[in-house]
Amino acid sequence: MTPDDFDIRDTAGRESDRDIEKALRPLAFDDFSGQDKIIANLRVFVQAARMRGEALDHTLLHGPPGLGKTTLSNIVANELGVGFKVTSGPVLDKPGDLAGILMSLEEHDVLFIDEIHRLHPIVEEYLYSAMEDYRIDILLDKGPGAKSVQLTISPFTLVGATTRSGLLTSPLRARFGINCHLEYYDHEVLRDIVMRSARLLSTPITPDAAMEIAMRSRGTPRIANALLRRVRDFAMVCGNGRIDTEIARSSLEALNIDRYGLDEIDNRILLTIIDKFGGGPVGLSTIATALGEDSGTIEEVYEPFLIKEGFLKRTPRGREVTPLAYRHLGRASGERQSNLFD
Ligand code: ADP
Repeated sequence: MTPDDFDIRDTAGRESDRDIEKALRPLAFDDFSGQDKIIANLRVFVQAARMRGEALDHTLLHGPPGLGKTTLSNIVANELGVGFKVTSGPVLDKPGDLAGILMSLEEHDVLFIDEIHRLHPIVEEYLYSAMEDYRIDILLDKGPGAKSVQLTISPFTLVGATTRSGLLTSPLRARFGINCHLEYYDHEVLRDIVMRSARLLSTPITPDAAMEIAMRSRGTPRIANALLRRVRDFAMVCGNGRIDTEIARSSLEALNIDRYGLDEIDNRILLTIIDKFGGGPVGLSTIATALGEDSGTIEEVYEPFLIKEGFLKRTPRGREVTPLAYRHLGRASGERQSNLFD
């Protein structure tokens, strides 16, 4: 059975794009670029589990969307030489759903649960004994006289992925023996990913053109691959199919892609701090209220990239935008304005 037989997540997006995304997904550690420390450690843990003939410890992968959590869990299963099943927190809304999947696991299989922070609390409790003792207690009825049966499951590895590690309960977090935080990718690594994807799509591309795409990809392989596909369309229709710097630049411009790769919410965060709070410092919860966003999502999903790229600073008094943010958004900085009055 293939991993996709178990892909029961929402499948937004065009079919062809999904097929391409699947084709571009690295299948072994050697094909996975970046996240060097995590890969080096996982290689050791996978090899040790194989040598002992045991299931790999339960593994938690956290980090913003599109950085390779699903890809990496698939690779771990491949490298362990075991089966791989995929589901996600919001899909498992009854203990019976979880029990069905757990019972279908074969020895040492990898079960990937995406968005594990969105598991229903009751389902999460069932998961505890499954993770710890490889058994689950299922209630057969309701009410005081309800009987329960204990089911034994094969030793397995749970790989949980989350963009919001702050929302995980401590009992769940404590049950993961391996904990990896995925970071945004540097431009050079993303360029290599774009070159590899272009090769797989049989699309000629120059390293400089790949760099143009990489620089506008918000440090995220999923965005880099999506931009490559769109630029490839332009190269086929408006050129000879080959992607050079010129066609890359003109297509990215036609697509209205921010030159730093910031998305709409990134820009709204920066603009809110500038326009409503004089550039900061301002507290996170105040920013979140002004934007109508969840403060944890801003902190865990958006802010790390803005800080990494030098648009935002965390200070003891709150968040503050940098001169780069003013320049990028075409606003006069507070410093410059006060100089006008000197
Ligand atoms: P996540 O689960 O973190 O949201 P995915 O694993 O679905 O991210 O990755 C999104 C896409 O990006 C995948 O289709 C994969 O092809 C690509 N990708 C992610 N990480 C890498 C990497 N390190 N090297 C090459 N491609 C990658």
